[in-house]
Amino acid sequence: MVVLILFPASTLAVERGTDTIVISNSKAWKPYSYLDENNQPAGILIDFWRAYGEANDVEIQFKLVDWQSSLDLVRDDQADVHAGLLWSKTRANYFDYGSEIFEIDTQLYFHSSLQSFNVNSFLMGGHNYKVGVVSGSYEVEFLETNYPNVELTLFDNNSKLLQAAFSHQIRAFVADLQVANYYLYTSSNTSEFIGVKHLYSGALYFAVAKNKAATLDVLIPNFSKISVDERQRILSRWMHIETVYPEHLIPIIGIMIILGVFVYILLLRYTVNTRTNELANANRELKVLSETDALTGLSNRRYFLEKLEKYRHTGGYLAIIVIDIDDFKKINDTFGHVQGDKVIKSVANSIRSLLKSDCVIARIGGEEFALVYVYQGFEYSYQLSQNICRSIRELDVKDICSQPVTVSVGCAVYEDASECETLYEADRLMYVAKKQGKNRAVVELISSQAKRMSTIDK
Ligand code: GH3
Ligand code: MG
Ligand code: MG
Repeated sequence: MVVLILFPASTLAVERGTDTIVISNSKAWKPYSYLDENNQPAGILIDFWRAYGEANDVEIQFKLVDWQSSLDLVRDDQADVHAGLLWSKTRANYFDYGSEIFEIDTQLYFHSSLQSFNVNSFLMGGHNYKVGVVSGSYEVEFLETNYPNVELTLFDNNSKLLQAAFSHQIRAFVADLQVANYYLYTSSNTSEFIGVKHLYSGALYFAVAKNKAATLDVLIPNFSKISVDERQRILSRWMHIETVYPEHLIPIIGIMIILGVFVYILLLRYTVNTRTNELANANRELKVLSETDALTGLSNRRYFLEKLEKYRHTGGYLAIIVIDIDDFKKINDTFGHVQGDKVIKSVANSIRSLLKSDCVIARIGGEEFALVYVYQGFEYSYQLSQNICRSIRELDVKDICSQPVTVSVGCAVYEDASECETLYEADRLMYVAKKQGKNRAVVELISSQAKRMSTIDK
């Protein structure tokens, strides 16, 4: 995987007086040190050492391998410097430490299925869950010292550790905060694992093999030539880009935006439909109101004349009946306008109850009503006019006024509907009934051939 540039395994470049320093670290410790998709060294520590090379005009070679091997390379003089690691008592037996590079935090992570576990009792052991950790790491040393009863399962590097977590081989692991974040946020398993306990914070130092401390006298001042700005730039570049914009969130955000727009359009359509229906209902109500007489609920004169105009084109019989309440002024004068209104309503209801549904009945004036219907001849109209007169005569109005109510009726029956032009004939016949003494109906068949007239007496 990694091209190892092998030097005589004995002296540091600094001591050799060559311009190449060989640096070792992990090949899978994102974002600190790893091999990218092109198998090239990448990461924060790698950038630090590249910056070291530039600041001091020396060539830097990297040997990125599994964690334990990265330590062994330095111990065995296969590499000059370990790029960055935590200090520990055990490690101090093999390494001399250089400058601090930056701090890291280490946490215990739980799979969501373990979240009911009390973290402190979990660390006391006595359960079947193993804690994943990178072989040779400081974490191993820390856990063995502080939580000796926890059973560990070792992995060669962080990549393998996180793979095992994602495939549920392990349900708990210990890793650096930044490292875990990097792997979690760049995977689709973001929410499966969460940090449940901060275990320690510590600085990463570079280190050389024991007894080569003299070389630190060169490395330490040279390392400090990396400017504060450059250090900050390296850190913020990696922390910012890799944790603030996890790639797999982009399609999720896209889907959420599309869903949002979709829901908005649905709501908009629903609102427009509702408003349109409300408007249509309001229009229907307005139309009904504009065609209705408020006092009686019958049609008004306008609607009556519209219907008459339509019926004139039907081609068969057409009949118009005009009804006027007799001596209504007297009723008004004797019993008052309010009682007069009640009489008008009673007469309207009484006439309505005698009619078929296809007959139009309207209040066309103060105490005048008119009917229009088609396809019924003289006999039918004669009977209907008579019935109207009789039913009003027999109307019980004792509760409204103490005098009987009667009507005069004029009925014009046209053999051919188109011959009817206005209410004129029916109105004329109603006045004939008035002249003949009121409380009666005058019916006439109007045709070009013959005219028949009939008067019904009291
Ligand atoms: P006739 O038998 O000749 O028809 O005599 P009449 O007294 O009924 O005479 P006319 O038809 O001329 O009088 C109708 C009266 O109806 C006149 C008016 O004051 C009254 N009137 C008109 N509209 C209303 C109404 O909405 N309510 C009431 N209570 N009275 C009305
Ligand atoms: Mg009148
Ligand atoms: Mg009248």
